[in-house]
Amino acid sequence: MNILVTGGAGFIGSHLSEALLERGHSVHSVDDLSTGSIKNIEHLKGSRGYAYTIGSIFDKALLAELVDWSDAVYHLAAAVGVRLIVEDPVRTIETNVHGTEMVLKLSSKKKRRVIVASTSEVYGKGPGGGPFSEGADLVFGATDRARWAYACSKAIDEFLALAYWRQKAVPTTVVRLFNTVGPRQTGQYGMVVPSLVTQAIRGDDMTVYGTGRQTRCFALVSEVVVAMTDLLECKPSLGKVVNLGSSEEVSILQLAKRIKTMTNSRSKIVFVPYDKAYEAGFEDMQRRVPDLSRARKLVGFRPKATLDDILKSVIDHIRAQRP
Ligand code: UDP
Repeated sequence: MNILVTGGAGFIGSHLSEALLERGHSVHSVDDLSTGSIKNIEHLKGSRGYAYTIGSIFDKALLAELVDWSDAVYHLAAAVGVRLIVEDPVRTIETNVHGTEMVLKLSSKKKRRVIVASTSEVYGKGPGGGPFSEGADLVFGATDRARWAYACSKAIDEFLALAYWRQKAVPTTVVRLFNTVGPRQTGQYGMVVPSLVTQAIRGDDMTVYGTGRQTRCFALVSEVVVAMTDLLECKPSLGKVVNLGSSEEVSILQLAKRIKTMTNSRSKIVFVPYDKAYEAGFEDMQRRVPDLSRARKLVGFRPKATLDDILKSVIDHIRAQRP
């Protein structure tokens, strides 16, 4: 198939493009390099069936041309990272809502297969922190807390993708990605694993926000993108939301300690209050665990990488980047 990947030079987009090429598809990435990087796709340049455009999904003529060329669209272009969202809420809301609207509108005209990337942020402050199945209620905080703008903007994306299926028979699927990590993810936008690994390798203080007792489940990007490619031709996934992630839960303090040990680092682990790390009144999720049974049923998704495997891949990558 000819496949368009929006946000294709991003961390997940670049891994997804790789997985699609490995399956023999032709891939065209479009990325405005706002949070993506040309370095992420350097190794793909010159691969058979690969092309890219540095441009915006808001360039209607460009997007129309690329959707026209494609048989399927993976829509990953979005404003991501909790820090970016808190610092630049206007960009977050506009990029996420209007970008998805443009992609779905154009794909609808041509009846293209569309897979929209969403996020586990949409579960918000759901009770108990999971395990969240796709039908769980979404629970957000007040609109004066910037963090929730991200969750709400992605929830609107999901509503829209599902509405296009229901009302216009556009074959859409939404993938809700839980904390996905691996090589090429940057700590620049505040994501915890690359941030802590970089600090540990440099010998800087390792910053644990809040008490460090909050937990997350970290999934390896290469396993997540295989499931995303498997969903492409999975008919029962049409008009559905599918969680992708890992169920190995770890507290952020344990994570920091593990990274410190694995890197043999002399760094100190320091606690930073949320209002210093983000903004006054910042609300964090104390726990976020996915229920992965739908993905297992649909595409046999069973992530195998352990947290140590994942951390090792990130540590090796960040070490290799250093001059
Ligand atoms: N976090 C941290 N130190 C950092 C960056 C993040 O303790 O340098 C915490 C953050 O407050 C959250 C967890 O790590 O509780 C995961 O953060 P991330 O931004 O990676 O993903 P989120 O789950 O918040 O989307």
